[in-house]
Amino acid sequence: MPVELKQGSLRVSHTPLHLDARRRTPLCFVSHAHADHIARHERTVATPQTLALMAHRLGPLEATVPLRFGERLSLESGDVELELFPAGHVLGAAQVRVTRPDGHRLVYTGDVSLAPALTAAPAAVVPCDTLVVEATFGHPRYVFPPREGVYDEVAAWARTQLGRGLVPVMLTYGLGKGQETIAQLVARGLPVCTDAGIHAVAGLYEALGVPVPSRCFDGAFREGEVGVFTPKALEPLRGGPQKLVTAALTGWALESWGARRSGADVAFPVSDHADFPSLLHYARSCGAREVITLFGFKEELAKALKAHGVFARAVHERVQMSLPLGP
Ligand SMILES: [Zn+2]
Repeated sequence: MPVELKQGSLRVSHTPLHLDARRRTPLCFVSHAHADHIARHERTVATPQTLALMAHRLGPLEATVPLRFGERLSLESGDVELELFPAGHVLGAAQVRVTRPDGHRLVYTGDVSLAPALTAAPAAVVPCDTLVVEATFGHPRYVFPPREGVYDEVAAWARTQLGRGLVPVMLTYGLGKGQETIAQLVARGLPVCTDAGIHAVAGLYEALGVPVPSRCFDGAFREGEVGVFTPKALEPLRGGPQKLVTAALTGWALESWGARRSGADVAFPVSDHADFPSLLHYARSCGAREVITLFGFKEELAKALKAHGVFARAVHERVQMSLPLGP
């Protein structure tokens, strides 16, 4: 297997390079700054934006190797060359291509989205021999409608709620979808008020050159404002003097339980992950001879890709064989 999964950490086989490891490693590529992809490593390779967002979450980092899209880096140990490409997932999110001396090219997508976004560089389909791809929504039943159209519906829904004298609040993740949602609503003429956490990350986006104009919640929503909050940050405001109505923005909106899981009144299918048709498109057009799936519906995605003629398998934890104990 070109990659190994050991104690929950993925590593490129025969190299010291870990990929989005959740525990401390000597050297790790971090694809983006979501909590389930970061840790304090001895050395971190990531885009400058991801390093800034990581430091915002974790505090000052140890040795960092900032790498911009299109730049190449040779690892002094391991004899491989790295190159980063946009992943379209959140600001700074990158895919990495690892090229061995024999020319074999492995691409690890991290979390990836092929849908156009206002706050993340558009994802590239990166030519490779081995593709290691996420499968969060890797089941054929996940087909997302075009993102722009969904945000049009979200904005129309928000205006309807404002017209009824209610405060519409979007429930999102604090990093990535929160800022994308602000940008999409503002682009549709709606002023946005956010919780302090989303506002702080929005400030960091602005500092990194991606404008995300919003106002930080100060105890009350103003006339005409739409809220963008994490579910946790909104909790204390429920039952307060201002009547709220909530919408979860999540890929899980395609499921009947999508709104309920976020504690929302309604849900709209907005995801920063690729849906099944996008994953299939990527796997078929990158030229890979083998596809390795991980996260989420990895078994289902591997099976579905095989049905479409793509050689695919899911990555599994390497099991340490132990000697049988005596009776
Ligand atoms: Zn993510």
